Amino acid sequence: MKRLSSLLLVLVLTVLQGPAPAVAQEAPRYVLAIHGGAGTITRDAMTPELEEAYHDALREALEAGHRILSAGGSSLDAVVATIQVMEASPLFNAGVGAVFTSEGTVEHDASIMDGRTRDAGAVSGLKHIESPIALARSVMEQSPHVMLSGAGAERFAEEQGFQKVPNEHFHTDRRRRQLERAQEAERGTGPTGDAALTPDDREADAHRFGTVGAVALDRDGNLAAGTSTGGMTNKRFGRVGDSPIIGAGTYADNETAAISSTGHGEFFIRGVVAYDIAAMMRYAGLDLTAAANAVVMGRLGDLGGTGGVIALDRHGNVAAPFNTPGMYRGWIDAEGNVEIFIYRH
Ligand code: ASP
Repeated sequence: MKRLSSLLLVLVLTVLQGPAPAVAQEAPRYVLAIHGGAGTITRDAMTPELEEAYHDALREALEAGHRILSAGGSSLDAVVATIQVMEASPLFNAGVGAVFTSEGTVEHDASIMDGRTRDAGAVSGLKHIESPIALARSVMEQSPHVMLSGAGAERFAEEQGFQKVPNEHFHTDRRRRQLERAQEAERGTGPTGDAALTPDDREADAHRFGTVGAVALDRDGNLAAGTSTGGMTNKRFGRVGDSPIIGAGTYADNETAAISSTGHGEFFIRGVVAYDIAAMMRYAGLDLTAAANAVVMGRLGDLGGTGGVIALDRHGNVAAPFNTPGMYRGWIDAEGNVEIFIYRH
């Protein structure tokens, strides 16, 4: 009976998960997987033009990382290059186009982890650094610390030769309108219904989250994971989500998996989601898909958390479970085969 119910659970989780990601591979081969955020992303809230723009941006990001991996570069280099493409794109909630805090500023968080050494670097509350993921890597490689925040992180960036940019560099009208609507809704003064919204605005609202993340396996069999975000619309200034928290938003260990999370950060912190997946693999002997499903569709959901992850093991298997209607996601294998998905089905 117990066995029957576990089989049923696995069946239900498999159906819920949507299109199955990459196939199992025997020898270590390089693979890269990305997400561009999870949320109430539905076909109704999308136009063909916007959908195409997302596909193009996700493909461009995957190809940037793939170029590095195919030339024999490291998974860390691939993760940074991939995320930088998404940080530069106004479509995603990272770098340019990140969401606004309640004060009308942009504050970025990011983290990175090297699965070979389990070294990690993280930054939070940045206002002037063009590529938060690059600074997270610098913290990992050039400082004795794992996480630097706010003014201290920005001073470290200057010392490391990073150019500072004005906060306005990251601002977009679409995100400003999203903040205004969130604040009107909070005050109860917003227009009801979304008939008056442009498709772009509707998509921005549906896409409540929108962090970007990448996980990679290189030719040497090393895993790496990275995550970069503006956090959540209308967050209090100073709020820090899961994305820069090692074990919640990002985790990588060659012996288990590389994981990047996206969703309602407070729940991902409380659920220690990325590490929980690795721990299920390490201590309970679950495979990647079973571990990722159990955590995202089970334990995270039980807490009331919404979102998803991309996860990659050392054999090149990819899992991408999410418990929201959609998650921007894609992967590319050693042959350059690209798959990109937005919705559940
Ligand atoms: N997890 C991010 C945060 O809570 C948001 C997101 O994934 O979009 O800051």
